[in-house]
Amino acid sequence: MTENNSKETILTRTPIPEQDPAKRRSNFDEVALGYTPEMAMKEAARCLQCKRPLCIDGCPIHIPIPQFIKAIKEGNFEKAIGLIKTASFLPAVCGRVCPQEDQCEKNCTLGKKAEPVAIGYLERFAADYAMQNRNGADVKIPKPTGKKIAIVGSGPAGLTCAYELARLGHKITIFEALHDAGGVLVYGIPEFRLPKRIVAHEINLLNEIGVEIVTNAVVGKLITIDEIMEEFNACFIGTGAGLPKFMGIEGENLNGVYSANEFLTRANLMKAYAFPEYDTPIKIGKRVAVIGGGNVAMDAVRTALRLGAREAMIIYRRSANEMPARKEEIHHAFEEGVQFELLTSPVRIIGEDGWVKSVECVRMELGEPDKSGRRSPIAVKGSEFKIPVDVVIIAIGTGANPILPQSTRKLALNKCGYIIVDEETGQTSREGIFAGGDIVTGSATVILAMGAGKKAAKAIHEYLMHI
Ligand code: FAD
Ligand code: SF4
Repeated sequence: MTENNSKETILTRTPIPEQDPAKRRSNFDEVALGYTPEMAMKEAARCLQCKRPLCIDGCPIHIPIPQFIKAIKEGNFEKAIGLIKTASFLPAVCGRVCPQEDQCEKNCTLGKKAEPVAIGYLERFAADYAMQNRNGADVKIPKPTGKKIAIVGSGPAGLTCAYELARLGHKITIFEALHDAGGVLVYGIPEFRLPKRIVAHEINLLNEIGVEIVTNAVVGKLITIDEIMEEFNACFIGTGAGLPKFMGIEGENLNGVYSANEFLTRANLMKAYAFPEYDTPIKIGKRVAVIGGGNVAMDAVRTALRLGAREAMIIYRRSANEMPARKEEIHHAFEEGVQFELLTSPVRIIGEDGWVKSVECVRMELGEPDKSGRRSPIAVKGSEFKIPVDVVIIAIGTGANPILPQSTRKLALNKCGYIIVDEETGQTSREGIFAGGDIVTGSATVILAMGAGKKAAKAIHEYLMHI
């Protein structure tokens, strides 16, 4: 290798192969195809093996990053996944959906001068390699402690909490409202970003270590937390923040208007793309508008394209710079032909015979920064215009589902309905009841939910060992 070549190698990250945009916009197969062993070893060789690795501080669950990257560089992929698994229960998931650019990769020393090491792609590589080359759980379970713990909700918070506690010999039962376990990982994030077989594989590992999962069990309706506490020694609530928010504008109750959660659940979990083989219909039409600029909006608009929309657009009230979605997702959406109506806000949805026909919007300009630090959008007087559409999907955020909190005595909630907990332990206002993930923080990320599940598991274990 010449000096120039090796300099180039260290400055530039190894690109991950992807499906061609023109092809992938009409299929649900995964967009990113993953590194080959050679690519992974090449990328791993870029890591400087810093004495004070800041990347670890940037990872909410403190994966030993330089160590696992070194193992990949040396071709020891088994060792790499072993190291990752000391800290993470869902590496194949996190390697795909974590916002690494704002976490570990943001802190990477190499990133100050060049592109940071592709930590997420390497984590994904190691996890996929292990999945393809090894069967079954390799977790040694100690003698049963005789303690029983109920977990409500099977999203990343609940699954992680279950895994950590089962590893300590406790008997775990997960209650899940939907007919499949996984939370947003199965009902929200689409197949083309996170294949369901990956989530199913991780959940199988839980089954193998004796975790029982009861599906179709809405806690607060079928059984209450108080009834659960009569049978179990402790409980963890990880019910997420799945209640859709609407804008409160005229026309939101027309046929053809969906919340992003309903739209994505129909498409992902209920397999609406295979209607009538599966009995959940979904309306797409020719033109679809998605309102919002976050990851959920990007998932919805890209799903609409794949379901056959001829045109799919994002309507967002600020500019591209303020969009909260991951840069990579915006880039992928753009490549697939999604249109962006930026600095635009809907004022009403117009219908005919009960069905959506168009959305009336107003142009916006940016004023002073608001509480979030982003410049506030201000409507430009007289700039109203109509966009003809067949379907409108609203992706402006979600809130706490009230079913469980409202049916639980003396569970302290904040003014938005989220459960109040001790930050260090996840302990709620009720003894023996812990909580974590989106139901505590509001909509956040997979890794933060996992971190909360892990922290609560430690506290639950300590609590159980002292009662
Ligand atoms: P959830 O994943 O919401 O799981 C909660 C579970 O509890 C659900 O299965 C629900 O059915 C169940 N439940 C609720 N109420 C009850 C009840 N009463 N009884 C029994 N069960 C109940 N984060 C990222 O890091 N990267 C991304 O790319 C990303 N993309 C996203 C895309 C979409 C479409 C959405 C919606 C979110 C995305 N997020 C992403 C956010 C991330 O998925 C969440 O922050 C994370 O899943 C929260 O985990 P959780 O375990 O707290 O809750
Ligand atoms: Fe490697 Fe970057 Fe972490 Fe340093 S900060 S150890 S270069 S991944």
